[in-house]
Amino acid sequence: MILDIRTFYLLLTVGNIVMFGALMVFAKFSRLEGSLRLYAYAKLLQGLGMLMVFRREMFLGDFFIIMESALFFTGIFTEAFCLIYVGKQPGKRSMRIWSCGAVAVIATFSFLQMTGTTAWIIICFYAAIFAVTSLFIGIRLVFYNNDTKLKRFFGYFFLCMAIPHVIRGGDIVINHKGNVIFGSYSIQIAVLVFSYIHMLSSTMAYLLMSREIVDKELKLAATTDFLTGVTNRMQFTSLAKRMFALEIREAKSVAVFMFDIDNFKSINDSYGHPMGDRVLVHFATTISDIVRTEDIFARYGGEEFILMLPHTAIKEAEIIANRCKAIIARRLIEDDGIPSYTVSIGIAAMIPDNLDQLDLLIDQADQALLHAKKQGKNQFVKYTELV
Ligand code: GH3
Ligand code: MG
Ligand code: MG
Repeated sequence: MILDIRTFYLLLTVGNIVMFGALMVFAKFSRLEGSLRLYAYAKLLQGLGMLMVFRREMFLGDFFIIMESALFFTGIFTEAFCLIYVGKQPGKRSMRIWSCGAVAVIATFSFLQMTGTTAWIIICFYAAIFAVTSLFIGIRLVFYNNDTKLKRFFGYFFLCMAIPHVIRGGDIVINHKGNVIFGSYSIQIAVLVFSYIHMLSSTMAYLLMSREIVDKELKLAATTDFLTGVTNRMQFTSLAKRMFALEIREAKSVAVFMFDIDNFKSINDSYGHPMGDRVLVHFATTISDIVRTEDIFARYGGEEFILMLPHTAIKEAEIIANRCKAIIARRLIEDDGIPSYTVSIGIAAMIPDNLDQLDLLIDQADQALLHAKKQGKNQFVKYTELV
């Protein structure tokens, strides 16, 4: 045997405490901060619990054994909680259920310890808690909080991590052996090796899953408009180029709508800037609700929005423009508290044959919009009417 069982306990203890320090330093420089600190404290609690096991000779008696387990179980539960709710805001109810669960487990353990329950049952209890938490993390990541491949991958990993604990628990139930804490039983050694792998890889899992969420948030922030949540102008330009190229290849007509809310300045002046913002959100969500998934709807500037529709000729564009005006009017009746507003729309359409025509098409829609404004607002004008 290269490593004796005490060395394993020492490695786990030191590993958890070093992990705590490293995570706290990382939290200082990362965007994850709060949730990462909670995860780091989970590691610290486990490390302290392990330290007490390692120095068992100093911490004899029910009180210390219960305390050691309380630290350890709290650490395990906190870690599981962080992993299950990675990237999600846990509700108050879930937090209450988790706290009650941790208290119930610690209370059960205290009861077993104080009533002098045989050691194999206590070890079995430990194995069951490890197996259940690992299974629970796995199930949540595979079936519930499973929006990415990475989460599902780690979900399966945690399901596998339950296996050694199930085997250990089963072995103890059958053989009633393995009840000496530093005994070198092969299953005990195997479980400790797995625990070490678990300690390293669960932190890796947590960091990678958190990183993935931060990346997603950054991407979203870079591509959407902060106020209305629709595509921003920069992202519009890149999506529009891609769509335009596709339409050139298929020789289909592309339509562009340029929207501008009428007399928006006076809405701001009469109702205040926050109400102006609500009008912008109202308009953006109303139009978003009726556009097709293949259309690109974006905020182009202050109260100007742009809509690009593939496979759309001018005749269909006209029908859609009427639909836009009708739905805004209907929503204004349905939604209380939004001041009445109207919108002018400039429409242009073409079957493009080169990428440079994208700017031209947008410019034509802009000219049509200007005309709609000049003609008295609250209407749409087609570029074809101007030429
Ligand atoms: P027109 O009918 O000719 O379009 O007149 P208008 O008042 O809508 O247009 P104008 O360009 O004179 O004013 C646009 C106003 O939109 C000015 C600006 O303060 C306001 N605005 C731009 N961005 C925002 C925003 O994010 N929130 C709010 N509340 N107002 C904004
Ligand atoms: Mg404007
Ligand atoms: Mg305007």
